[in-house]
Amino acid sequence: MPLLTEHCEAALAILEAQHLRRNLRVSARVEDSSVEIEQDGHHYVSFACNDYLGLRAHPEVIAAGAKALAEHGAGAGASRLVTGNHPLYAPLEAKLAAMKGSEAALVFGSGYLTNLGVIPALVGKGDVIFADKLVHACIIDAAQLSGARLMRFRHNDMAHLEQLLKGYRAESPNALIVTDHVFSMDGDIAPLADIATLAEKYDAWTMADDAHGLGIVEPAAELDVWMGTLSKSAGAYGGYVCGSQALINYLTTAARSFVFSTGLPPSACASALSALTVMEHESERGSIAIALAQRVTNALCLPRAQTSIIPIILGEAEAAIAASEKLKERGILAVAIRPPTVPPGTARLRLAFSSEHTDAQVDALIAALKEVLVC
Ligand SMILES: *Cc1c(COP(=O)(O)O)cnc(C)c1O
Repeated sequence: MPLLTEHCEAALAILEAQHLRRNLRVSARVEDSSVEIEQDGHHYVSFACNDYLGLRAHPEVIAAGAKALAEHGAGAGASRLVTGNHPLYAPLEAKLAAMKGSEAALVFGSGYLTNLGVIPALVGKGDVIFADKLVHACIIDAAQLSGARLMRFRHNDMAHLEQLLKGYRAESPNALIVTDHVFSMDGDIAPLADIATLAEKYDAWTMADDAHGLGIVEPAAELDVWMGTLSKSAGAYGGYVCGSQALINYLTTAARSFVFSTGLPPSACASALSALTVMEHESERGSIAIALAQRVTNALCLPRAQTSIIPIILGEAEAAIAASEKLKERGILAVAIRPPTVPPGTARLRLAFSSEHTDAQVDALIAALKEVLVC
Protein backbone atom coordinates (compact mmCIF):
# COMPACT_ATOMS: atom_id res chain seq x y z
CA MET A 1 0.00 0.00 0.00
CA PRO A 2 1.39 3.49 -0.89
CA LEU A 3 1.69 6.22 1.71
CA LEU A 4 -1.55 8.20 1.85
CA THR A 5 0.13 11.34 0.48
CA GLU A 6 1.51 9.34 -2.48
CA HIS A 7 -1.91 7.86 -3.09
CA CYS A 8 -3.47 11.33 -3.14
CA GLU A 9 -0.76 12.78 -5.37
CA ALA A 10 -1.19 9.96 -7.91
CA ALA A 11 -4.97 10.46 -7.94
CA LEU A 12 -4.52 14.20 -8.43
CA ALA A 13 -2.09 13.65 -11.30
CA ILE A 14 -4.72 11.57 -13.11
CA LEU A 15 -7.39 14.24 -12.58
CA GLU A 16 -4.96 16.93 -13.72
CA ALA A 17 -4.25 15.05 -16.96
CA GLN A 18 -8.00 14.83 -17.61
CA HIS A 19 -8.50 18.54 -16.87
CA LEU A 20 -10.75 17.50 -13.98
CA ARG A 21 -8.72 18.73 -11.03
CA ARG A 22 -10.51 21.42 -9.04
CA ASN A 23 -8.86 24.24 -7.13
CA LEU A 24 -10.11 26.77 -4.64
CA ARG A 25 -9.81 30.50 -5.22
CA VAL A 26 -10.61 33.28 -2.84
CA SER A 27 -13.60 35.20 -4.17
CA ALA A 28 -14.41 38.46 -2.45
CA ARG A 29 -17.47 40.54 -3.12
CA VAL A 30 -16.70 44.02 -4.39
CA GLU A 31 -18.27 46.64 -2.18
CA ASP A 32 -21.48 48.24 -3.48
CA SER A 33 -22.03 45.46 -5.97
CA SER A 34 -23.66 42.09 -5.68
CA VAL A 35 -22.38 40.86 -9.05
CA GLU A 36 -18.74 41.96 -9.06
CA ILE A 37 -16.07 39.77 -7.56
CA GLU A 38 -12.39 40.10 -6.79
CA GLN A 39 -10.26 37.03 -7.38
CA ASP A 40 -6.47 36.89 -7.17
CA GLY A 41 -6.32 40.69 -7.23
CA HIS A 42 -8.46 40.96 -10.39
CA HIS A 43 -11.88 42.46 -10.65
CA TYR A 44 -14.59 40.55 -12.56
CA VAL A 45 -18.24 40.83 -13.41
CA SER A 46 -19.56 37.48 -12.25
CA PHE A 47 -22.02 35.33 -14.16
CA ALA A 48 -21.08 32.51 -11.81
CA CYS A 49 -23.12 33.21 -8.67
CA ASN A 50 -26.43 31.64 -7.71
CA ASP A 51 -27.57 34.85 -6.01
CA TYR A 52 -30.12 35.34 -8.81
CA LEU A 53 -32.11 38.06 -7.08
CA GLY A 54 -29.22 40.05 -5.63
CA LEU A 55 -30.39 39.40 -2.07
CA ARG A 56 -27.09 38.24 -0.60
CA ALA A 57 -25.93 41.86 -0.55
CA HIS A 58 -29.31 43.53 0.02
CA PRO A 59 -29.11 46.09 2.87
CA GLU A 60 -32.24 44.77 4.63
CA VAL A 61 -31.01 41.18 4.42
CA ILE A 62 -27.62 42.15 5.87
CA ALA A 63 -29.23 44.26 8.62
CA ALA A 64 -31.56 41.42 9.64
CA GLY A 65 -28.61 39.05 9.95
CA ALA A 66 -26.56 41.55 11.94
CA LYS A 67 -29.44 42.18 14.36
CA ALA A 68 -29.92 38.44 14.93
CA LEU A 69 -26.20 37.96 15.46
CA ALA A 70 -26.19 40.62 18.16
CA GLU A 71 -29.37 39.35 19.84
CA HIS A 72 -28.94 35.58 19.61
CA GLY A 73 -25.21 34.99 19.27
CA ALA A 74 -23.11 33.46 16.52
CA GLY A 75 -24.24 29.85 16.64
CA ALA A 76 -27.29 27.79 17.58
CA GLY A 77 -25.32 25.93 20.24
CA ALA A 78 -26.99 22.55 19.70
CA SER A 79 -29.22 20.60 17.34
CA ARG A 80 -32.75 21.95 17.05
CA LEU A 81 -34.24 19.06 19.03
CA VAL A 82 -31.94 19.87 21.97
CA THR A 83 -31.60 23.64 22.53
CA GLY A 84 -30.78 24.99 19.06
CA ASN A 85 -34.34 25.82 17.99
CA HIS A 86 -34.00 29.59 18.40
CA PRO A 87 -37.07 31.83 17.88
CA LEU A 88 -36.10 32.76 14.30
CA TYR A 89 -37.04 29.35 12.93
CA ALA A 90 -40.82 29.54 13.38
CA PRO A 91 -41.42 32.66 11.27
CA LEU A 92 -39.00 31.39 8.61
CA GLU A 93 -40.79 28.04 8.37
CA ALA A 94 -44.20 29.72 8.31
CA LYS A 95 -43.06 31.92 5.42
CA LEU A 96 -41.63 28.98 3.44
CA ALA A 97 -44.80 26.93 3.90
CA ALA A 98 -46.94 29.86 2.75
CA MET A 99 -44.76 30.47 -0.32
CA LYS A 100 -45.07 26.83 -1.38
CA GLY A 101 -48.77 26.57 -0.48
CA SER A 102 -47.92 23.76 1.96
CA GLU A 103 -49.20 23.05 5.45
CA ALA A 104 -45.76 23.13 7.01
CA ALA A 105 -42.02 23.44 6.46
CA LEU A 106 -38.84 22.28 8.16
CA VAL A 107 -35.48 24.05 7.89
CA PHE A 108 -32.29 21.98 7.74
CA GLY A 109 -28.59 22.90 7.84
CA SER A 110 -28.27 23.06 4.03
CA GLY A 111 -29.94 21.90 0.84
CA TYR A 112 -27.56 18.98 0.67
CA LEU A 113 -28.42 17.95 4.22
CA THR A 114 -32.12 18.29 3.42
CA ASN A 115 -32.00 15.79 0.58
CA LEU A 116 -29.71 13.52 2.54
CA GLY A 117 -32.19 13.47 5.41
CA VAL A 118 -35.54 13.52 3.61
CA ILE A 119 -35.11 10.84 0.95
CA PRO A 120 -33.82 8.03 3.23
CA ALA A 121 -36.56 8.90 5.74
CA LEU A 122 -39.23 8.31 3.06
CA VAL A 123 -37.97 5.27 1.17
CA GLY A 124 -35.62 2.40 2.00
CA LYS A 125 -34.57 -1.10 1.05
CA GLY A 126 -37.23 -2.77 -1.11
CA ASP A 127 -38.64 0.60 -2.29
CA VAL A 128 -37.93 2.31 -5.59
CA ILE A 129 -36.89 5.84 -6.61
CA PHE A 130 -37.42 7.17 -10.15
CA ALA A 131 -35.09 10.13 -10.73
CA ASP A 132 -34.43 12.32 -13.76
CA LYS A 133 -31.04 11.60 -15.33
CA LEU A 134 -29.85 15.16 -14.56
CA VAL A 135 -30.92 15.59 -10.94
CA HIS A 136 -28.43 17.23 -8.58
CA ALA A 137 -25.67 15.05 -7.12
CA CYS A 138 -27.07 15.24 -3.60
CA ILE A 139 -30.29 13.54 -4.70
CA ILE A 140 -28.22 10.65 -6.05
CA ASP A 141 -26.20 10.51 -2.82
CA ALA A 142 -29.43 10.51 -0.82
CA ALA A 143 -30.96 7.80 -3.00
CA GLN A 144 -27.90 5.61 -2.52
CA LEU A 145 -27.94 6.22 1.21
CA SER A 146 -31.60 5.21 1.36
CA GLY A 147 -30.92 1.69 0.04
CA ALA A 148 -33.92 1.95 -2.30
CA ARG A 149 -33.57 0.80 -5.90
CA LEU A 150 -32.68 3.81 -8.10
CA MET A 151 -34.06 4.03 -11.65
CA ARG A 152 -33.04 7.00 -13.81
CA PHE A 153 -35.33 8.29 -16.55
CA ARG A 154 -34.01 10.23 -19.53
CA HIS A 155 -34.00 13.96 -18.93
CA ASN A 156 -37.58 15.33 -18.88
CA ASP A 157 -38.67 12.27 -20.90
CA MET A 158 -42.15 11.36 -19.65
CA ALA A 159 -42.50 8.40 -22.01
CA HIS A 160 -39.36 6.90 -20.50
CA LEU A 161 -40.55 7.60 -16.96
CA GLU A 162 -43.83 5.86 -17.75
CA GLN A 163 -42.00 2.90 -19.24
CA LEU A 164 -39.94 2.53 -16.04
CA LEU A 165 -43.02 2.93 -13.84
CA LYS A 166 -44.80 0.23 -15.88
CA GLY A 167 -41.84 -2.09 -15.60
CA TYR A 168 -40.73 -1.61 -12.01
CA ARG A 169 -43.32 0.16 -9.88
CA ALA A 170 -45.30 -2.93 -8.91
CA GLU A 171 -42.32 -4.71 -7.39
CA SER A 172 -41.99 -2.27 -4.47
CA PRO A 173 -44.30 -1.23 -1.65
CA ASN A 174 -43.32 2.47 -1.86
CA ALA A 175 -42.18 4.56 -4.82
CA LEU A 176 -40.84 8.11 -5.07
CA ILE A 177 -40.46 10.16 -8.25
CA VAL A 178 -37.90 12.90 -7.78
CA THR A 179 -36.70 15.69 -10.05
CA ASP A 180 -35.12 19.12 -9.97
CA HIS A 181 -37.68 21.83 -10.67
CA VAL A 182 -35.14 23.99 -12.53
CA PHE A 183 -32.10 21.99 -13.64
CA SER A 184 -28.97 23.54 -12.20
CA MET A 185 -26.62 22.99 -15.14
CA ASP A 186 -29.14 23.31 -18.00
CA GLY A 187 -31.56 25.94 -16.76
CA ASP A 188 -34.58 24.10 -18.12
CA ILE A 189 -37.77 23.23 -16.23
CA ALA A 190 -39.19 19.82 -15.31
CA PRO A 191 -42.71 18.98 -16.57
CA LEU A 192 -44.08 18.80 -13.04
CA ALA A 193 -47.75 18.55 -13.99
CA ASP A 194 -47.03 15.52 -16.19
CA ILE A 195 -44.95 13.96 -13.43
CA ALA A 196 -47.82 14.46 -10.98
CA THR A 197 -50.24 12.79 -13.43
CA LEU A 198 -47.97 9.77 -13.86
CA ALA A 199 -47.44 9.56 -10.11
CA GLU A 200 -51.17 9.42 -9.60
CA LYS A 201 -51.61 6.77 -12.28
CA TYR A 202 -48.85 4.51 -10.93
CA ASP A 203 -49.26 5.30 -7.25
CA ALA A 204 -45.99 7.05 -6.48
CA TRP A 205 -45.01 9.95 -4.23
CA THR A 206 -43.60 13.10 -5.84
CA MET A 207 -40.72 15.34 -4.82
CA ALA A 208 -39.06 18.34 -6.48
CA ASP A 209 -35.83 20.15 -5.66
CA ASP A 210 -36.47 23.87 -6.10
CA ALA A 211 -32.91 25.07 -5.42
CA HIS A 212 -32.86 27.14 -8.63
CA GLY A 213 -36.55 27.97 -8.92
CA LEU A 214 -37.39 29.84 -5.72
CA GLY A 215 -38.45 33.39 -6.58
CA ILE A 216 -37.82 32.75 -10.28
CA VAL A 217 -40.24 30.12 -11.58
CA GLU A 218 -43.63 29.47 -9.98
CA PRO A 219 -44.31 25.81 -9.15
CA ALA A 220 -46.73 24.42 -11.75
CA ALA A 221 -48.06 21.41 -9.88
CA GLU A 222 -48.98 20.16 -6.44
CA LEU A 223 -46.40 17.69 -5.23
CA ASP A 224 -46.02 15.70 -2.01
CA VAL A 225 -42.61 17.11 -1.16
CA TRP A 226 -40.87 20.36 -2.11
CA MET A 227 -37.35 21.01 -0.97
CA GLY A 228 -34.89 23.76 -1.67
CA THR A 229 -32.07 25.86 -0.37
CA LEU A 230 -31.78 29.24 1.31
CA SER A 231 -28.29 29.70 -0.13
CA LYS A 232 -29.11 30.66 -3.71
CA SER A 233 -31.89 33.13 -4.55
CA ALA A 234 -32.55 33.60 -0.81
CA GLY A 235 -28.98 34.83 -0.44
CA ALA A 236 -28.24 33.23 2.95
CA TYR A 237 -27.69 29.63 4.03
CA GLY A 238 -29.75 26.59 4.98
CA GLY A 239 -32.12 24.09 3.38
CA TYR A 240 -35.83 23.45 3.69
CA VAL A 241 -38.56 20.96 2.97
CA CYS A 242 -42.28 21.75 2.61
CA GLY A 243 -45.26 19.41 2.70
CA SER A 244 -48.11 18.20 4.87
CA GLN A 245 -47.97 18.70 8.63
CA ALA A 246 -47.71 14.92 9.06
CA LEU A 247 -44.72 14.77 6.70
CA ILE A 248 -42.97 17.56 8.59
CA ASN A 249 -43.73 16.01 11.99
CA TYR A 250 -42.34 12.70 10.77
CA LEU A 251 -39.16 14.24 9.29
CA THR A 252 -38.52 16.13 12.54
CA THR A 253 -37.99 12.73 14.15
CA ALA A 254 -36.84 10.56 11.27
CA ALA A 255 -34.49 12.66 9.10
CA ARG A 256 -31.06 11.87 10.51
CA SER A 257 -29.33 14.92 9.01
CA PHE A 258 -31.90 17.03 10.88
CA VAL A 259 -31.69 15.18 14.20
CA PHE A 260 -27.91 14.81 14.37
CA SER A 261 -26.71 18.19 13.14
CA THR A 262 -26.53 21.60 14.82
CA GLY A 263 -29.14 24.23 14.05
CA LEU A 264 -28.35 27.09 11.70
CA PRO A 265 -26.72 30.26 12.99
CA PRO A 266 -29.55 32.66 13.97
CA SER A 267 -28.15 35.24 11.54
CA ALA A 268 -28.62 32.84 8.59
CA CYS A 269 -32.28 32.30 9.54
CA ALA A 270 -32.92 36.01 9.97
CA SER A 271 -31.24 36.92 6.68
CA ALA A 272 -33.15 34.20 4.85
CA LEU A 273 -36.47 35.37 6.27
CA SER A 274 -35.69 38.96 5.30
CA ALA A 275 -34.70 37.82 1.80
CA LEU A 276 -37.95 35.90 1.36
CA THR A 277 -39.86 39.01 2.39
CA VAL A 278 -38.03 41.16 -0.16
CA MET A 279 -38.57 38.42 -2.76
CA GLU A 280 -42.32 38.56 -2.14
CA HIS A 281 -42.60 42.34 -2.21
CA GLU A 282 -40.35 42.69 -5.26
CA SER A 283 -41.48 39.70 -7.26
CA GLU A 284 -40.28 41.36 -10.49
CA ARG A 285 -36.67 40.47 -9.55
CA GLY A 286 -37.10 36.95 -10.92
CA SER A 287 -38.45 38.10 -14.27
CA ILE A 288 -35.66 40.66 -14.60
CA ALA A 289 -33.03 37.91 -14.21
CA ILE A 290 -34.81 35.73 -16.80
CA ALA A 291 -35.13 38.65 -19.25
CA LEU A 292 -31.36 39.30 -19.03
CA ALA A 293 -30.66 35.63 -19.74
CA GLN A 294 -33.03 35.77 -22.72
CA ARG A 295 -31.22 38.78 -24.09
CA VAL A 296 -28.10 36.64 -24.29
CA THR A 297 -29.81 33.61 -25.82
CA ASN A 298 -31.46 35.86 -28.42
CA ALA A 299 -28.18 37.59 -29.27
CA LEU A 300 -26.32 34.29 -29.66
CA CYS A 301 -29.14 32.35 -31.36
CA LEU A 302 -29.26 29.83 -28.52
CA PRO A 303 -32.46 28.13 -27.34
CA ARG A 304 -34.46 30.77 -25.46
CA ALA A 305 -33.61 30.90 -21.74
CA GLN A 306 -36.46 29.64 -19.52
CA THR A 307 -34.82 30.65 -16.24
CA SER A 308 -31.85 32.65 -14.96
CA ILE A 309 -29.40 29.91 -16.01
CA ILE A 310 -28.05 29.23 -19.50
CA PRO A 311 -25.64 26.52 -20.56
CA ILE A 312 -23.25 26.99 -23.47
CA ILE A 313 -22.25 23.43 -24.24
CA LEU A 314 -18.74 23.10 -25.65
CA GLY A 315 -18.02 19.36 -25.39
CA GLU A 316 -14.68 18.52 -23.84
CA ALA A 317 -13.54 19.81 -20.45
CA GLU A 318 -10.53 21.47 -22.07
CA ALA A 319 -12.70 23.56 -24.43
CA ALA A 320 -14.89 24.77 -21.58
CA ILE A 321 -11.87 25.72 -19.50
CA ALA A 322 -10.28 27.58 -22.42
CA ALA A 323 -13.47 29.57 -23.03
CA SER A 324 -13.75 30.42 -19.34
CA GLU A 325 -10.10 31.61 -19.30
CA LYS A 326 -10.66 33.82 -22.36
CA LEU A 327 -13.68 35.41 -20.72
CA LYS A 328 -11.60 36.07 -17.61
CA GLU A 329 -9.10 37.96 -19.74
CA ARG A 330 -12.07 40.15 -20.70
CA GLY A 331 -13.08 40.74 -17.08
CA ILE A 332 -15.92 38.22 -16.99
CA LEU A 333 -16.34 35.24 -14.68
CA ALA A 334 -18.24 32.31 -16.17
CA VAL A 335 -17.37 28.92 -14.75
CA ALA A 336 -16.48 25.92 -16.83
CA ILE A 337 -18.61 23.00 -15.69
CA ARG A 338 -17.03 19.61 -16.28
CA PRO A 339 -17.76 15.97 -15.56
CA PRO A 340 -18.73 14.55 -13.14
CA THR A 341 -20.98 17.58 -12.53
CA VAL A 342 -22.33 17.12 -16.09
CA PRO A 343 -22.25 14.02 -18.36
CA PRO A 344 -18.99 13.37 -20.28
CA GLY A 345 -18.82 15.24 -23.60
CA THR A 346 -21.12 18.03 -22.39
CA ALA A 347 -18.64 20.28 -20.59
CA ARG A 348 -19.97 23.80 -20.76
CA LEU A 349 -19.95 27.38 -19.64
CA ARG A 350 -22.75 27.91 -17.17
CA LEU A 351 -24.01 31.47 -17.10
CA ALA A 352 -26.13 32.60 -14.18
CA PHE A 353 -27.94 35.93 -14.30
CA SER A 354 -28.94 38.20 -11.47
CA SER A 355 -31.59 40.91 -11.38
CA GLU A 356 -28.66 43.15 -10.35
CA HIS A 357 -26.71 42.79 -13.59
CA THR A 358 -26.87 45.99 -15.62
CA ASP A 359 -27.72 46.10 -19.32
CA ALA A 360 -24.17 47.30 -19.98
CA GLN A 361 -22.69 44.28 -18.16
CA VAL A 362 -24.87 41.92 -20.17
CA ASP A 363 -23.95 43.66 -23.43
CA ALA A 364 -20.26 43.29 -22.54
CA LEU A 365 -20.88 39.58 -21.91
CA ILE A 366 -22.56 39.19 -25.30
CA ALA A 367 -19.67 40.93 -27.07
CA ALA A 368 -17.09 38.81 -25.24
CA LEU A 369 -18.95 35.56 -25.96
CA LYS A 370 -19.16 36.44 -29.66
CA GLU A 371 -15.37 36.82 -29.74
CA VAL A 372 -14.51 33.83 -27.59
CA LEU A 373 -16.91 31.31 -29.13
CA VAL A 374 -15.87 32.08 -32.69
CA CYS A 375 -12.10 31.79 -32.22
C1 LIG B 1 -27.14 23.78 -4.60
C2 LIG B 1 -28.10 22.66 -4.71
C3 LIG B 1 -28.40 21.85 -3.61
C4 LIG B 1 -27.64 21.95 -2.32
O1 LIG B 1 -28.01 23.07 -1.60
P1 LIG B 1 -26.98 23.70 -0.55
O2 LIG B 1 -27.81 24.53 0.33
O3 LIG B 1 -25.97 24.44 -1.33
O4 LIG B 1 -26.36 22.53 0.18
C5 LIG B 1 -29.37 20.90 -3.77
N1 LIG B 1 -30.02 20.72 -4.94
C6 LIG B 1 -29.74 21.47 -6.01
C7 LIG B 1 -30.51 21.25 -7.28
C8 LIG B 1 -28.78 22.46 -5.94
O5 LIG B 1 -28.48 23.18 -7.01
